[in-house]
Formats: sequence, C-alpha cells, structure tokens
Amino acid sequence: MLDEKIAPSYEEVIRRNPGEVEFHQAAREVLVSLGPVLAKHPELAEHKVIERICEPERQIIFRVPWQDDSGEVHINRGFRVEFNSALGPYKGGLRFHPSVYLGIVKFLGFEQIFKNALTSMPIGGGKGGSDFDPKNRSDDEVMRFCQSFMTELYRHIGEYTDVPAGDIGVGTREIGYLFGQYKRITNRYESGVLTGKGLEWGGALVRTEATGYGAVFFAEEMLKVRGQSLDGATCVVSGSGNVAIYAIEKIRALGGRVVSCSDSDGVVHDPAGIDLELLKRIKEVERGRVKDYAEQRGGATYRDGGDIWRIPCDVAFPCATQNELTAKNAAALVEGGCQAVVEGANMPTTPEAVDVLTEAKVAFGPGKAANAGGVATSALEMQQNASRDRWTFSHTEKRLSEIMTDIHDLCHRTAAEYGREGDYVAGANIAGFLRVGEAMVAQGLI
Ligand code: NDP
Repeated sequence: MLDEKIAPSYEEVIRRNPGEVEFHQAAREVLVSLGPVLAKHPELAEHKVIERICEPERQIIFRVPWQDDSGEVHINRGFRVEFNSALGPYKGGLRFHPSVYLGIVKFLGFEQIFKNALTSMPIGGGKGGSDFDPKNRSDDEVMRFCQSFMTELYRHIGEYTDVPAGDIGVGTREIGYLFGQYKRITNRYESGVLTGKGLEWGGALVRTEATGYGAVFFAEEMLKVRGQSLDGATCVVSGSGNVAIYAIEKIRALGGRVVSCSDSDGVVHDPAGIDLELLKRIKEVERGRVKDYAEQRGGATYRDGGDIWRIPCDVAFPCATQNELTAKNAAALVEGGCQAVVEGANMPTTPEAVDVLTEAKVAFGPGKAANAGGVATSALEMQQNASRDRWTFSHTEKRLSEIMTDIHDLCHRTAAEYGREGDYVAGANIAGFLRVGEAMVAQGLI
C-alpha cells in the first residue's frame, strides 16, 4: 500500500506518463517503501524529492535511419533518458530489442538511479536503447545501425556527462561499433565515454562476468544469513545471455548445480547440470539457441515455450527479462521447494509474484541490489580508464565481491533499521533513495 502522503506523487507519475506501464510499475515498487522514510526525514518531503526523482532530468528521442545488406532503408527510434545526476554522470546501459519504447527505457533508468546509489560509486542514473532487433542481422547491418545511432547520441554523452554501456542486445560487438563512431565524430579517444569495451581497447577484466557473478555473490550472502549456501544447491537460471551464462559459471564454482536455462523460444532441462563450455560455444561463438544445446547434449531435454519455474530447485535466478516470473510461476517455485529467488535481470518478478514469495518466506533479492555488480564493475572500468591503469582479473573480482557484500549488508541493515528485517526490497529502496535524496537536497533546487 502506498502511504497517503506519497499516493498523489504516484498518481502524477501515471498522469504525466500515460501508457508507460513498466515505468509506473517500477515507480510504484520504489514508492511503496518510502512512507517511513519521509516520516523520519521530513526535509525530503519539504524539498519535493519524490516528485523530482520521478521526473527525468532530460529525455532524448531520435530517428535512426540505416540500410540493410540489400539496400533497403529502415527507420528505428533511439532513446536516451538522463534520469538523475545527483551522484555522478548518468550511467546505464543501452538496450536494442523490438519491445523498447519510452516506458521500458524509463523503468530501467528509474531503477538505475537507486541501483547505482547502492554501489557507493559516483554514478547517476540513465538508460537508453532502440527498438532495433539485432537478431539475425549481419555484422555489417549491426555496424551501420550502431553508426547511425551514435551519429545522434554522441552530442549528449561524454565521460563527465553520460556514460552508456550494454544491456539486452548490446554486447562487446555493438559497444565496439558505437565507440568507433564516437571517436570518428569527436576526434577524441575518450575511453571513459562507454563501458563494456573490448579488453584490447580500454575494457576492464571481469566486466563481462560482473552482473552474473555479482548476483551469485549476493545470493551467497543472503543464504549465509539463513545458515545456508549454494554448495550442493540445485539452481534454475532463466535466459542464456550475458547475465545468465556468468551466473551459471559462478554458481558452479561455488558448488551449485544449474539444471535449466532458457531463451525466448523455450527451456532446456539438463538434470546432470548445464555443460557451460557447450552453452558458451553455442551462445557466444555460434550465436545459436538453447534448442541447439539440447540437441548436442545427451540427457538434456528441450520444450518449446516451456515453463522453467516448474522445475524444482533450491535457488532461482531470473536472468532474462522484465515480468518473466508471475504469481503462478512463484507458486510453482514454492511448491518445488525453492528457498531463494535472486534477480539477475531487471524487474523480472511481478509485484504479485513477490507477494507470493514473501508470504511463503522465500528469501527475495531484488535486481536493483542483486544485479548491481555489472554497473559497479563499469564504474571500475571508468576508474581504470581515467588513471590509464589495468587491474588483474583476481583483483577486480575481489573488488566486485566486496562491493556485493557491502550492498547486501547495507540493504539488510537498512531493512532492519526500518523494522523490516529480511526485506531486501525495502532495504534497497530506502538505502538507495536516501543517498540520492540527500545529495539532491544538498545541491539545491535544480
Ligand atoms: P542478453 O541479450 O545477453 O540476454 C538476454 C537473454 O534473455 C537471452 O537469452 C534472451 O533470449 C532471454 N530472453 C529474453 N526474453 C525472454 C523471455 N521472454 N523468456 C525467456 N528468455 C528471454 O541480455 P543480458 O543478459 O545482458 O540481460 C538480461 C537481463 O539482465 C536484462 O533484464 C538486463 O536489463 C539485466 N541486466 C543486465 C546487465 C548486464 O551487465 N548485461 C546489468 C544489469 C542488469 P533470446 O535470445 O531468445 O531473446
């Protein structure tokens, strides 16, 4: 329930942003936690911090024309929402997927404000993308699209202004083409303008692995509080992209067994445990599907459109996309004995599903805390770029692990301070909001 002092702000979000249902959902998920914060910090209400934080500082929408290999012209739409710069330059990924529209970019940008605050790094919140679908496009087509996209975006970004990175549909290949075009237009080798770069040209070790690894470190901390661990645990990981693959890798390293993964076509069930080398080859080298994995792996089965959450597990990691885990799915997880759900993706669990899990006392790690390892490592990449330095894998992974432990402890401690012991959603929302809100008050009415 929304506090009666906060409800009008939420109604204003809906009125001002008609039809942007994912943004409404993300805003509501944060605002429901904030009633007790305003009671304790009346200065935040006085300075209208909630109303200001829900309104992006700047929203850019632009045309992206490009030609495919046959010479046909296509027009896509590009977005960059610069949401909040109280703590540092706008920071957040670019998503290339046909479902992208302003409401998706705003939900992601809004979440990013609080996530970035939780990392304790000097980064604000933003997000961008396009309704372009890189799937089944040649490298040349992806390059032409990226060049056209950057031909507009370059004037809005910079290492001290706004620093984009990858997300769904944007990996090292796309970041390479985007960086190349930025360099060409500006005549500046400005490494810190994008993160997720290739290792040979300014990228940081561990950035590729960071979101998945970080979610698993966070899960391990949550389980520790309950006297449990991932060692010997059976896990289910949805998706088979960047976050999913490296979550699987770290779960295995900590002694867990991942028995299932998926893509938007179907689900693989591999009771012996996912063969990560095979999965990586199919997804990262051949850009194939999980169906191909099942065909090549003895003992694994595949179901078109299958329901991954019906597979019994101890810990579930939704690592694919928003709203992929519904109340019905949550009930199936509870029935299968699931002890913890940790979000690798952004907002993959619907609010109704979170209620089902909470009711059943399943530990729940929200994405804005659990998947913050990606952006935290991006900030480490910016740090290395700025100092012309390059850290080792083990040093960077250790930093990531410490950051995830700190985020876990901050969320856990804050939840307890506000009488919500074990509620990581409340802990993450309150701690993130306080950091940004206090900085906004200090910086005056801007
Ligand atoms: P990728 O594009 O690498 O992978 C996305 C994966 O999810 C693909 O396997 C995709 O399958 C699958 N997927 C998409 N929609 C569905 C669906 N409806 N059902 C099942 N599977 C689906 O993206 P990332 O791994 O980078 O991102 C995944 C999530 O993590 C997103 O929510 C993203 O915002 C979040 N995130 C990512 C970070 C990062 O560092 N990359 C940082 C923090 C959060 P298909 O190939 O069929 O589309």
